[in-house]
Amino acid sequence: MKLMISRRLPESVMAEAAARFDLTDRAGDGPMSHDECVAALRDYDAVIPTLGDAFRAAAFAAVPAPRCKLLANFGVGYNHIDARAAAGAGVAVTNTPGAVTDATADIALTLILMTARRAGEGERLVRAGDWHGWHPTQMLGMHVTGKTVAIIGMGRIGQAIARRCHFGFGCRIVHVSRSPKTLDFPAEAMTLEAALGAADVVVLAVPATAETHHLMKAETLAAMQAHAILVNIARGDVVDEAALISALKSGTIAAAGLDVYEFEPQVPDALKMMENVTLLPHLGTAALEVRKAMGRMALANVIAMADGAPLPNPV
Ligand code: NAP
Repeated sequence: MKLMISRRLPESVMAEAAARFDLTDRAGDGPMSHDECVAALRDYDAVIPTLGDAFRAAAFAAVPAPRCKLLANFGVGYNHIDARAAAGAGVAVTNTPGAVTDATADIALTLILMTARRAGEGERLVRAGDWHGWHPTQMLGMHVTGKTVAIIGMGRIGQAIARRCHFGFGCRIVHVSRSPKTLDFPAEAMTLEAALGAADVVVLAVPATAETHHLMKAETLAAMQAHAILVNIARGDVVDEAALISALKSGTIAAAGLDVYEFEPQVPDALKMMENVTLLPHLGTAALEVRKAMGRMALANVIAMADGAPLPNPV
């Protein structure tokens, strides 16, 4: 069976894949282009793609009878794959749920704390040699303990963030969910508008879908409190980035912590210029053991397909 891995994964995962399959390591750092996706659908039995690889409807339309029967996505978010077009072409899609949950929740907490307590700004101050000593009213930030945190999208990652905020920081949790949730911590379900109005910190943890595209735009940003912080660990296009820049400039909201960007990896200069914005380079799952677990999970789906067994993680 011919397998293509679109971006180099940790060595142990590559070795396991090479031992089992006729493996092609694409050895690229950037996302697969449309033409590469077309060729992959035509020439391989399975592909392990990842963030940004352009498996859009047009790629499936260009290969009427694909040799490829599985896109085993490396990552839980698969908005770069048109799953409906894949199904129409007889190509299964799987992802890596769970393996990413705690690491991504940890990055959300990193962003909450860094942004609330102005850690990036303080670090820049020290490195620039501009810190001249402690004083009682220097660089005062938002005290996170006991604050109200709104989780938008109470799925695996949303719940892991909420647990950290509740058990670790005594926060009140409110959430916006599209289906009822059974939770092992106190949390109040609200409408989006009510949650945004109640929160000191708003955390986005929804998948990127047509429904969540620009969920945070001028109107929803205006529903937040002026002292509140927006944190996005979901996907960039859940936020209208231009509207976010305007809201930060006008003081509609106080600050933002971002792991993902609307036109990733482009980050607007306007955001880079603002001291009240924490910018991370999509670090959500960036820990070796997490990336190994994700790789093993993606590979397990390919092995299941090769063995004719049910796929463990269909989307
Ligand atoms: P998940 O378990 O499927 O959770 C997503 C939650 O969002 C679900 O509870 C879902 O509701 C809810 N939801 C979907 N549309 C909604 C809407 N319109 N309004 C309110 N809630 C909505 O997925 P996950 O594992 O937590 O991952 C969430 C997303 O995080 C991924 O899709 C990915 O894009 C992103 N992510 C980012 C990083 C990073 O590196 N920054 C890493 C991992 C994942 P239901 O429960 O009703 O389905």
